[in-house]
Amino acid sequence: MSKNVFVFAEQRDGVLQKVGIELLGKANELAKDLGQEVVAMLLGDNIKGQADVLFHHGADKVIVVDDPMLKEYVTEPYAKAIFQITEKYDPEIVLYGATSIGRDLAPRLAARIHTGLTADCTSLEIDEESKNLMMTRPAFGGNLMATILCEEHRPQMATVRPGVMTPLATDHDRKGELIEEKVEFSDADMNVTVREIAKEEEKKKDITEANILVSGGRGIGGPEGFKQLQQLAEELGGEVSTSRATVDAGWIEKDRQVGQTGKTVRPDLYFAFGISGAIQHLAGMEESDLIIAINKNDTAPIFDVADLGIVGDLNAIVPKLIEEYQKE
Ligand code: FAD
Repeated sequence: MSKNVFVFAEQRDGVLQKVGIELLGKANELAKDLGQEVVAMLLGDNIKGQADVLFHHGADKVIVVDDPMLKEYVTEPYAKAIFQITEKYDPEIVLYGATSIGRDLAPRLAARIHTGLTADCTSLEIDEESKNLMMTRPAFGGNLMATILCEEHRPQMATVRPGVMTPLATDHDRKGELIEEKVEFSDADMNVTVREIAKEEEKKKDITEANILVSGGRGIGGPEGFKQLQQLAEELGGEVSTSRATVDAGWIEKDRQVGQTGKTVRPDLYFAFGISGAIQHLAGMEESDLIIAINKNDTAPIFDVADLGIVGDLNAIVPKLIEEYQKE
């Protein structure tokens, strides 16, 4: 019988990605509702040492496949290893981050296992009556939220957007069971050769990983407006993010967009400069710990979610903030 909530603990260059830790938080809730356990799948080369981090964040068991074939992410060896684990352990639920890796891996596994997959989920709950997983995701370009059930097949599989789920607080005393699995790889499994990994030149942090976000909307007036926001972000050790209006206008890259059709963020501090606070924007940032909104219109809806609001012209306020932080 299918049981337990499995999480794919994504790593890059041996570093666990935040999304896997977030998923362990959600998996704990789901497993509790089902009276089951949380199992993390950790794949890589020389990666076993990271298992403790997964225990500290809520894994009851960690299944490790440690093999040089898994050093860099290549679809086939990763899919083969997870398929083997899934066949052997028969999970009830498997969760992946909706990252480039998760989005590549999960559909292939769903096809191989003959089960369904709900991609890009923003909410996961157990239905009290049927005990099925209710997987909710934006549909029709974000115009409605669709809740999808996978009633007949197991495992129930979902990819989940980074930044949406809340990780458990780290508990360094938490321990679990480490299970090592061997997978017989052959040369034929490595059907792609990784010749080079081209890293982004500019060392920009993903906005979902930043503790401080300096976000600018249409009110900043044009692409030039991001220069002073960038300066402020550098003073604060944060990152620049934005609303959809500026992305659509071509002022900044899409990977900086916060909101329903952008990224969901939950930083310690979120500055909103010249952002009106449309519902689709709020959906991506309202869980931030502290929101400071700066807008010249005192009825802008962003003030409804702000902890601190300043009514005024951002062109006067941003340089003053930069000056103040430079003094510190
Ligand atoms: P505006 O709404 O134009 O607001 C600009 C604000 O700047 C105003 O409040 C104005 O008072 C203020 N301002 C102007 N000049 C100054 C100044 N000098 N100083 C201070 N304040 C000033 N939006 C998102 O952000 N993310 C999404 O993911 C997203 N997804 C969407 C999905 C769908 C299906 C749809 C239909 C829309 C989506 N939108 C999304 C768009 C959203 O509805 C809004 O159009 C968008 O968020 C508006 O961006 P904005 O606040 O930057 O611009």
